[in-house]
Amino acid sequence: MDKYKKYYDKHKNDADFKAKNAARAKLYYQQNKDKVKRYTEINRQKIADRMKTWRLENRAKLNQYQNERRAQNPGDRKGESGPDYYQKNRTRILYNQRNYEAKNPDKRAERGRRWRLEHSAEVRLQVHKYRTKTKGVQISKEEIYNWFTRICGICKEPITENFEIDHIIPLSRGGLHEVLNLQLAHPHCNRVKHNKLPSELLMV
Ligand SMILES: [Zn+2]
Repeated sequence: MDKYKKYYDKHKNDADFKAKNAARAKLYYQQNKDKVKRYTEINRQKIADRMKTWRLENRAKLNQYQNERRAQNPGDRKGESGPDYYQKNRTRILYNQRNYEAKNPDKRAERGRRWRLEHSAEVRLQVHKYRTKTKGVQISKEEIYNWFTRICGICKEPITENFEIDHIIPLSRGGLHEVLNLQLAHPHCNRVKHNKLPSELLMV
């Protein structure tokens, strides 16, 4: 396994190695569609976690890829988004949005509800930040605990007793002190993880 890993790391960016791997994966998928589907269903959460972690760690790479693609296809507006696109088209976007929501007030309320639900931990962090600023109230570990499902972000086992707040990307590695980068962790798991990135942890 270790040998394979070394080989993989050495060649992972070679064009023909990548092409061969992609072809093999495609063939495997075609021959094992049911198996793959079952695996995906059982491990939905695990896969989503892994993708989220990857995106967090590779933000710069993703942005670069997107910029390159856009530079190569100036006429192709598919998937275009982000701050630049928004700034350039702000008037039109806001006009369309307001127009649509004026006609569909329930859709507007629904969007707000959905956003607050999806960002509940963030909303609470903002409220706390505001309170801290105006009243000097500190965010307690216990309060953060209540924002999350009580699962250790490192070993994925339930947390029943002691816990710590872990930065998914450690602060010392450039991670931010923001909700998207926080998770609960067993004290032991946190010790083991120390200042590793999640991807480095998988190799241990
Ligand atoms: Zn744990």
